[in-house]
Amino acid sequence: MSANAAYPYETHDYDVVVVGAGGAGLRATLGMAEQGLKTACVTKLFPTRSHTVAAQGGIAASLGNMGPDSWQWHLYDTVKGSDWLGDTDAMEYLAREAPKAVYELEHYGVPFSRTEEGRIYQRPFGGHTTQFGEGPPVQRTCAAADRTGHAILHTLYGQSLKEKAEFFIEYFAVDLIVTDGACTGVVCWKLDDGTIHVFNAKMVVLATGGYGRAYFSATSAHSCTGDGGGMVARAGLPLQDMEFVQFHPTGIYGSGCLITEGARGEGGYLTNSEGERFMERYAPTYKDLASRDVVSRCMTLEIREGRGVGNDKDHIFLHLSHLPPETLHERLPGISESARIFAGVDLTREPIPVLPTVHYNMGGVPTNYWGEVLAPTPDDPDRIFPGLMAVGEAGCASVHGANRLGSNSLIDLVVFGRAAAIRAGEVIDRAASIPGTNRAEVDRALSRFDALRHANGGTPAAKLRNDMQRTMQADAAVFRTDKTLAEGVQKMGRIAAQMADLKVTDRTMIWNSDLMETLELTNLMPNALATIVAAEARKESRGAHAHEDYPERDDANWRKHSLAWVEGNEVKLAYRPVHLEPLTTLEEGGIDPKKIAPKARVY
Ligand SMILES: Cc1cc2nc3c(=O)[nH]c(=O)nc-3n(C[C@H](O)[C@H](O)[C@H](O)COP(=O)(O)OP(=O)(O)OC[C@H]3O[C@@H](n4cnc5c(N)ncnc54)[C@H](O)[C@@H]3O)c2cc1C
Repeated sequence: MSANAAYPYETHDYDVVVVGAGGAGLRATLGMAEQGLKTACVTKLFPTRSHTVAAQGGIAASLGNMGPDSWQWHLYDTVKGSDWLGDTDAMEYLAREAPKAVYELEHYGVPFSRTEEGRIYQRPFGGHTTQFGEGPPVQRTCAAADRTGHAILHTLYGQSLKEKAEFFIEYFAVDLIVTDGACTGVVCWKLDDGTIHVFNAKMVVLATGGYGRAYFSATSAHSCTGDGGGMVARAGLPLQDMEFVQFHPTGIYGSGCLITEGARGEGGYLTNSEGERFMERYAPTYKDLASRDVVSRCMTLEIREGRGVGNDKDHIFLHLSHLPPETLHERLPGISESARIFAGVDLTREPIPVLPTVHYNMGGVPTNYWGEVLAPTPDDPDRIFPGLMAVGEAGCASVHGANRLGSNSLIDLVVFGRAAAIRAGEVIDRAASIPGTNRAEVDRALSRFDALRHANGGTPAAKLRNDMQRTMQADAAVFRTDKTLAEGVQKMGRIAAQMADLKVTDRTMIWNSDLMETLELTNLMPNALATIVAAEARKESRGAHAHEDYPERDDANWRKHSLAWVEGNEVKLAYRPVHLEPLTTLEEGGIDPKKIAPKARVY
């Protein structure tokens, strides 16, 4: 036990501490432990309850099991999906390493669905094509029925235990420990007995997931509160490309619960109040399987023009009843259940009412394609911040740029979780001793914790969270204008200022959900502020950022990553260049740079 005036704490020493046990955290944990690094995985949820468990549709890799495919085509689709904002080196790494990472999952034991010949089954997904966007849709998304994330999490958790990784479950990471410009650990609160734990490490890996809950209606779990981004912002590091928030076309109307894109991949389609398959009009080639941002905008336009369905003409129908019962039963069993429970619909007879719903955060903690966190300066936009990595939805490598393709997140988790482990194996000095406890930093983190625990103002966290969520939903939506964004920035400024007036009623240390939700709100808030301020600043339309006053993409001025430093309620913005160079040349078997040069993005 070490002493802090108010909070005695236990210290733990590891080579590596991974924060988060979703797909990204577990793949990193497993890779670290396999190399014999002494590895701890700290997680606020039981590992298999992480949001990855909800991923239905599948994981993209150009295995070519259902027809011709290549990593170069996957790279092209990812570049186009990103609306030319992704970093080319990272996107190439993703597309090239994807098949390897999927076969590894297979060998670890993920129970993929199979073809007649026993190969991994692959389904079509939006934006995934052949022949550099010139050919028909490709079947690239590997699936374990509609429970792919569930299968991956259970397999990786079991494998990590086998490799003797140590799990600290229901430990809430409060803040990073920074010593002389490097991360040296993390301070945690153990939820079930109220004790404080300090983890010292040579490398900390943030795998804390997205911040969907900054919005009112989201497909993500209530635990997706951007804790990694919050910790990073408090450590004085920037967040990247936060203005890009993906709306999934098919959240169930009302609950926001997801109906996987795999439903359209298997042949489902959308209609308006006139029964028209309107996607044929907007995206003549790929129709309902155009990229997500495109489909979400078309749905919103249909509703705006009075062709929405339902009493309030405020949603759209998704039809699956024409599909053979075997397909529904074998390929989409989970969504039949979701449709029944959350929409009261029997999808063999009726369409599902759906609406674009917040689904994924393209932005996050900036990293290179090894997962190493960047602390850019004007002179060195790729400067590495030692001792810290970020992977999965918490990070921004950036492979999704301004818009992520469906099934490209699960592959991002395992490719970059694995890359982080490979890199850590190279940069960690095994002979060096683990950094000692930085008491001043621990005290600083604990005094913030203590101030929140005893916060005695007039505003409960739940009220402030609701104000934030409704403002983000209204003003940083599918379509944005100068006016809505400027108003949103003002409103969010006023809401964030009320953080000084928080009230926490429960002061206990054990299972105190009031305090935990308040801590989560202190993480959601910087993510939300960075999102709306960066969105207000970006005067173009690109990917998920659809700006009505600037409807065109503007590569000359805006093909650059935004960086947002959040200090209290203030957001400071800067920009860093997009990496345009592929990893390998055409002669080395890489992609022809002409193929991925910017052009209009039509599907
Ligand atoms: C409903 C749904 C369906 C999806 N379907 C697909 C799909 O089919 N294909 C696809 O490619 N993508 C899909 N996605 C996206 C993809 O699933 C997510 O982007 C991905 O699972 C995120 O994984 P992660 O490991 O980064 O984080 P998560 O799985 O969200 O895990 C975060 C982890 O961090 C831990 N954590 C967070 N904060 C703290 C803290 N303060 N202290 C300690 N631990 C903490 C949590 O306990 C958890 O273990 C879907 C997303 C949703 C919401």
